[in-house]
Formats: sequence, structure tokens, C-alpha cells
Amino acid sequence: MAEGMLLIISGPSGVGKGTVCRSLLEIREAIRLSVSTTTRPPRPAEREGVDYYFTSPRRFKKMIEEGAFLEWAEVHGHYYGTGLEAVQSNLAAGEDLILEIDVQGAVQVMDKVPAAVSIFLAPPSEKELEERITGRGTESSKKISRRLTTARREMESYHLYDYIVVNDQVERAAELISSIIDAEKCRVSRGARPPGWGGEK
Ligand code: ADP
Ligand code: 5GP
Repeated sequence: MAEGMLLIISGPSGVGKGTVCRSLLEIREAIRLSVSTTTRPPRPAEREGVDYYFTSPRRFKKMIEEGAFLEWAEVHGHYYGTGLEAVQSNLAAGEDLILEIDVQGAVQVMDKVPAAVSIFLAPPSEKELEERITGRGTESSKKISRRLTTARREMESYHLYDYIVVNDQVERAAELISSIIDAEKCRVSRGARPPGWGGEK
């Protein structure tokens, strides 16, 4: 069985990564979204094991020492990490997996997993990015200005990625990502073969 594809969806805070990923999962039911571990307190509607695994900074640091993470980063004053074991077992089972992670984490995964496909989700404009960060309404004004500063810095990393998708309309961005997945699955280097020609040439 072919290994699953690891898809990194990253980009500045507030660009719409979570929103676009949810839309993508509606059109591609077979793909899974990796559940990260974080030390950030849960927001009202968030559920343990669905949105995140919520943990303490002490436990998180222990997990780092134990090598439990494929990548981890400190984002806006909290720790976030992708569990290594879950990623390995999903890919080994042939399942495609999305990592919705920040730019620091994305760069670590690009280094460790060269076969991963990386997509930088970009806002249609700087002004629109500001409006999305401000408009989400989940953060205090101090936290908003911190996220804006980080987002501007994160925009500069776009050139490290395989693809750039502009999140102008959510459905359009999700469709573009779905097309990228289709194209990647047609790559010979990723194991695509003419029907009946299974062997290596
Ligand atoms: P991220 O996960 O990148 O931090 P979110 O998915 O939480 O971003 O989106 C940030 C805000 O922007 C949310 O209020 C969301 O509804 C809004 N948003 C996302 N995509 C779009 C879009 N294409 N057009 C308008 N608003 C959007
Ligand atoms: P939020 O607190 O809004 O859920 O997420 C804040 C930021 O952390 C977002 O940019 C999100 O993509 C990123 N993030 C979520 N999980 C992970 C993870 O496991 N690793 C890294 N590096 N970033 C993550």
C-alpha cells in the first residue's frame, strides 16, 4: 500500500487556515486533520481531542524531552505541537493527513519530511488580514496587536513553500487545495503508475 500524503497548510495568523481546512474536509472526506497538543486554554466551543489535546506547560515540556513531537513551536505565548506517533501511523495506513500549523512548525516539517506538500495560505491583502484578525473576536486587544505583528513577519516566509493559495473566498481556496492534492497524487515520484504497471522501471 502507498504511504499517505502529508499536507502542510500554513500561513499567517488569522488568514483563515482553520476555516479553509474545515471547508476542505467537507469536499474531501477521506483526508484527516491532525489534532495538535497545546498549552493554550480551550475557547468556549472547543473540545478536547477534537480541536486540540489541551495540556499544561510542564507536561508539554516533558513531551518535548521524550521526543513525542514531529514539530513544536511557541506561538503567541503558548506551546503547540504535532504528535509524531499519530502522524506516522496515519501515513503508514495510507491515510492523507493535514497539518494546520504555524510557519515555524511548517519549516521543521519541511526539513524532516521532504515528501510533505506545503501550502502557504495568503490573504488577498494586508488590510483584509488585519480585519480578519480583529473581526474573529476571540482575543483581547493586546493579543490582537501581538497577532498582527507576528502575522506581518510570517508573511515573509511564503517563498519557503511549494504552493501559495490566496484565501479570497473560502470555497475557492479549498477547491484549489483539493486540486493540488489531485495533482500531487498524479506524480510518478509519489508512486503513480499506469494501471496494471505496478513495478518499478
Ligand atoms: P487562522 O486559523 O488562520 O488563524 P481563522 O480560520 O480562525 O484563521 O479565520 C480568521 C477569521 O477570518 C475568522 O473570523 C474567519 O471567519 C474569517 N475568514 C476566514 N476566511 C475568510 C474569507 N475567505 N473571507 C472572509 N473571512 C474569512
Ligand atoms: P489558535 O490558538 O488560533 O488555535 O492557533 C494559533 C496558531 O497556532 C495558528 O497559526 C495555528 O495554525 C498554530 N498551530 C496549531 N497547532 C499547531 C501545531 O501543532 N504546531 C504548530 N507549529 N503550530 C500550530
